[in-house]
Amino acid sequence: MTNNVQLVVFAAFIVFSVGAAVIKARANRNYERSIRRNGRTRCGGCGYELGTLQGGRCPECGADLMDVGVVGAGRSRR
Ligand SMILES: [Zn+2]
Repeated sequence: MTNNVQLVVFAAFIVFSVGAAVIKARANRNYERSIRRNGRTRCGGCGYELGTLQGGRCPECGADLMDVGVVGAGRSRR
């Protein structure tokens, strides 16, 4: 019985780790793709135009760009 519980906890941990890694990798890929495609990006949080600024935080609202994401300039995408 104890073994079963440990197995479930272990499996849940693996699923969580993989899920988090996948989400992070996907967000990162979207971020880089939108920079490459548009050259210019807007903050996903406040819409401030970031220009060619890459990575880090939005100078306008201070949001972490990896968290809020970025959108292509002049176009609103979902
Ligand atoms: Zn912002």
